[in-house]
Amino acid sequence: MRFITFLICICLTSCSTKQSEHFDLILSKVNLIDGTGNPMQNEVNIYIKGNKIVKIEKGQIEGTANVIDGTDKYLIPGLFDCHTHTTDYIGDFPRFAHYGVTSILVTGGSKCTNDYFEEMRDMGAQDSIPAPRVFHTSQHFTMEGKHPVKTYSSNDWIDGKSVFFLRDTLQIESIVKQVAQYPIVGIKLTIEDGPFPPFVDRMPQNFVNKVVKEAAKNGLEVFVHVSDNEELAMAQQAGVKNYLHYVMIDLDWERDAAIIAGLIENNASIVPTLMLKKSWLYPLRIDWIKRLKETNIQDLEELAYLSDPARKAKSLGILKARKFMTDEKIPTLLSMITKQTEDLKLLYAKGINIALGTDTGNDFILPGISLHEEMQIMELGGFAPLEIIKMSTHNAAKMLHQLDSLGTIEVGKYADMILLDHNPLDSISNTLSINRVIKNGVVQRRMN
Ligand SMILES: [Zn+2]
Repeated sequence: MRFITFLICICLTSCSTKQSEHFDLILSKVNLIDGTGNPMQNEVNIYIKGNKIVKIEKGQIEGTANVIDGTDKYLIPGLFDCHTHTTDYIGDFPRFAHYGVTSILVTGGSKCTNDYFEEMRDMGAQDSIPAPRVFHTSQHFTMEGKHPVKTYSSNDWIDGKSVFFLRDTLQIESIVKQVAQYPIVGIKLTIEDGPFPPFVDRMPQNFVNKVVKEAAKNGLEVFVHVSDNEELAMAQQAGVKNYLHYVMIDLDWERDAAIIAGLIENNASIVPTLMLKKSWLYPLRIDWIKRLKETNIQDLEELAYLSDPARKAKSLGILKARKFMTDEKIPTLLSMITKQTEDLKLLYAKGINIALGTDTGNDFILPGISLHEEMQIMELGGFAPLEIIKMSTHNAAKMLHQLDSLGTIEVGKYADMILLDHNPLDSISNTLSINRVIKNGVVQRRMN
């Protein structure tokens, strides 16, 4: 009898232990799009302890926790914007977080001294003030009189601090060694001749080759600014792995077969930033500007400045110089991106990693919301929503070598996720139907 009582006690103890297991947060019965590209799973429970996802199961919830009812809602991983610049991270970071962008790649900029990078990393590393996790490259490697110092003039560009002017190839070894001491994801190399006319000279090929070679010696990848075929060929020839634009590139499958083969062989990643093209069109589209104002999130002063009539004239100038306008007819966005999205579809099918980014910091490319616009552009170009979500989560984490902890909703990863009211697989614009943003297991305060 005593033995039986003993057995019952063991059972009760173990059963009750299981029932009362404590979690910090559970999202119950949610429709899960986990970012891997796998199909949506219905009515799944996501268990979070501390900042990590510890269990994903169907059925009745087990254990105690703060529960968010996910019934009829959709869960996707936190988004990455893999091409950003900011000169005001205190103002910009809450806007990224508001829109569910929980990780960003800062690809240099006029303010980006080592101290500024550190401040941004620190803000991204906490989870009480809304801010994305911050990954960044080195400062721009460029040359005097070239992009972006000449094309985006600012008193903040200081050689050796926020930018490196390469004067001869012999210097490159020591500069690469210098930046390699910091927690960078790679070297930021700017080859291109500028975003629009008047163009500047490109970086010579021998400089490009030397930077890539020295980076490899230090275990670093190179993230390159290229925007047309010639620059792409130069970077590919040097063995660059990561391409931060695809704005004006237009490949011919026969003529450019060697370049394409080289990209595939090198497991290249491309961040298209087609949002740049939308930004050129923005000043001519009152309906788009009106929509931005209605969000009540963007800085109205900034929008008023952007809506200045002078911007319209500038836009028309860019569209004509880039040959998107041959008469007075304003081009459609689709007509401006089709050549690129057709290339990208073929490259993606061949295994090139496409991750999404915006070039936030340029006129009309705004923190957070523009990543959703980039996703919409990819849908307009013919990509399926499931793949677009993968590009802005899994593929971004893959490029940044963070897939072991970020980029998908899987057990063992940090709990960075967005709960949506509407199904993003029906239309990618439903990624804007944000119910909650969770970063590092913590529900983030949004701006309205
Ligand atoms: Zn940029």
